[in-house]
Amino acid sequence: MNASKLLVAATVALALTAACAGPRKMQGPFEVWERTVITMNRDVMYVFVTDDYRDSVELRRPCRDLSDEELRSDLFDMLSRKMLTTVQAPQHGGVGIAAPQVGILRRVVAVQRLDKEGEPFEIYPNLRIVELLGDTVQSREGCLSIPGKRGIVPRREGAVIAWTDPKTLEPRQEEIHGFTAIIFQHEADHLDGILYIDRADSVWIDQEWLDERLPYAQAGDYDKPEWVNGPGY
Ligand code: ZN
Repeated sequence: MNASKLLVAATVALALTAACAGPRKMQGPFEVWERTVITMNRDVMYVFVTDDYRDSVELRRPCRDLSDEELRSDLFDMLSRKMLTTVQAPQHGGVGIAAPQVGILRRVVAVQRLDKEGEPFEIYPNLRIVELLGDTVQSREGCLSIPGKRGIVPRREGAVIAWTDPKTLEPRQEEIHGFTAIIFQHEADHLDGILYIDRADSVWIDQEWLDERLPYAQAGDYDKPEWVNGPGY
């Protein structure tokens, strides 16, 4: 067998190996590991925290966009529903949450639209800040992933956001002002692996926050599930 025939044989063998590599193959939307996290979590998902070394590494990783196929999937609906339940759970009581906080490195956030009637929570896939607007303001922020702490963070008063409409899959843009614009800046940062403590002028332990949350935390929190430390870490 000459060299070129050998190369062809090797290529065919490699292709066959790849075709048979079942566990590494993408089967439908989301990767196998992401599907595990989404389906195995209870409705109030485990929230990654900076106190845990492995969690803190994950929280620093940039997130990927979601494809149209993924946005149309039942799995995305389940992720959205669980993120909404998680951020509104009494032990969290947040106004926003980003997918990396629940171990999914994708660009999707849930934000409470305090600027809308009824202050609904909404899901924003493929979120990006297109432009920052207005003056710099001093924002008082906390984060579900940094429990018991608060910080003063310079933010801009307004922002133009872009996202993919989860129902129509059309690109959307909106100009937002006030505290809601700050929530979007905080959540969009999460998708780039940035935490508010990176931008904060000052950070302190918030005893009031700890006292408020402790009874809920004791009642509702649970240890990190085993599968969170599974493949991919
Ligand atoms: Zn946060």
